[in-house]
Amino acid sequence: MKRIDVDELEPFVRALVAGLDADDEVASEVAASLVEADLAGHGSHGSIRMGTLYREMVEDGDIDPQAAPEVERLGPTTAAVEGNCQYGQVVGRRAVDAGITLAEEGGVGVVGVRNAAHLGRIGEWAERATGAGFCFVAFVNTGGTAPLVAPPGSADRRFSTNPLAFGVPSFGALPHPIVLDIATSQVAHGKVTKRAVEGRPLPTGWIVDETGETVTDSQAYEDGRGALMPLGGLTAGYKGFGLSMMAELFAGIVGDHRVSGQDEARRVNNGAMFVLVDPTLFSTSEANRERVEALAETIHGASSPEAVKTGPVAKGEEAVLPGEPEHETKRTRRAEGIPFHEETLDLLADVARRTGVEASIPASFER
Ligand code: NAD
Repeated sequence: MKRIDVDELEPFVRALVAGLDADDEVASEVAASLVEADLAGHGSHGSIRMGTLYREMVEDGDIDPQAAPEVERLGPTTAAVEGNCQYGQVVGRRAVDAGITLAEEGGVGVVGVRNAAHLGRIGEWAERATGAGFCFVAFVNTGGTAPLVAPPGSADRRFSTNPLAFGVPSFGALPHPIVLDIATSQVAHGKVTKRAVEGRPLPTGWIVDETGETVTDSQAYEDGRGALMPLGGLTAGYKGFGLSMMAELFAGIVGDHRVSGQDEARRVNNGAMFVLVDPTLFSTSEANRERVEALAETIHGASSPEAVKTGPVAKGEEAVLPGEPEHETKRTRRAEGIPFHEETLDLLADVARRTGVEASIPASFER
């Protein structure tokens, strides 16, 4: 494991994106998002993606780095964003910004998104909306392009990890917004891929095969064995499954996008519904600040006995609010660098060589 300084990583990732036919603005936006995910502790949706997914998507035409996303105002509080398969990191920005304009004017903004390629870490869009003062909800699907998850009682890969994200500003009560950003499967597929790159096994309870056995070999899953279980796993998977079906439909209907079962031959193609709400229409900022303070106090005041665990990949063992781990991780990683397994650095250096930007490989990547 090596720590890479954010100031070294970001120009490198920018060069990788630019080396794959993107202009400077696209390269900057994609690199900023990927590095932000690395900083937030979601390396599964960070720079590694240039090696595990995006290079191939660009080469196969699943991402079009030259495309211009189109924003169409549909009504006083509604808009549609056609991503035209530009990087999701670019499309996501346009979609949130369209929602901010709507919510500033009308108090509420509902934005449908289609053909967004891969929107990456959805929490970034929640942070962008809360940063402008709005509450935020996102329902995301992959338009039937990434069948990875089984319905409860099955081990067939039928639908995708359909993430949900929610954001609420903290109204000055905390140094960060409250952001829940989760796949509706036991875990995001990116976490499995990342472990396969790193040669690490999976915790039990993420993946099931048709014999009912849990699969812990990350590469075996990548090679086609078993299916991810919906959030809740063997005990309550029907709940994560239900949330996922709603994400399929809300993203499909509001995004005017496909759903699983209407599969298309692309790698990943997100559709989404983003909703932004102006909290000041309903209550004062002072009252909202008191709500967040009370909630934070009661959660932080919960005891955290040694024997009671949060889970194999949850962040920390203390009682915290969603969004708090990402805020703390960003602070630490900005100061101390971002930890990467050497296999990941090798993979990214390889992408740089393939795309003719090897001169941009940071010296710190060397073994
Ligand atoms: P995860 O299991 O790491 O959960 C992350 C969420 O849980 C965060 O909101 C975090 O603040 C909260 N959290 C973590 N530990 C906590 C603790 N101890 N106490 C309280 N809250 C805690 O996430 P995941 O489901 O594996 O998803 C990872 C990423 O994958 C997300 O950023 C998601 O948007 C992304 N994703 C994207 C797609 C796509 O198609 N674009 C698909 C699936 C997932």
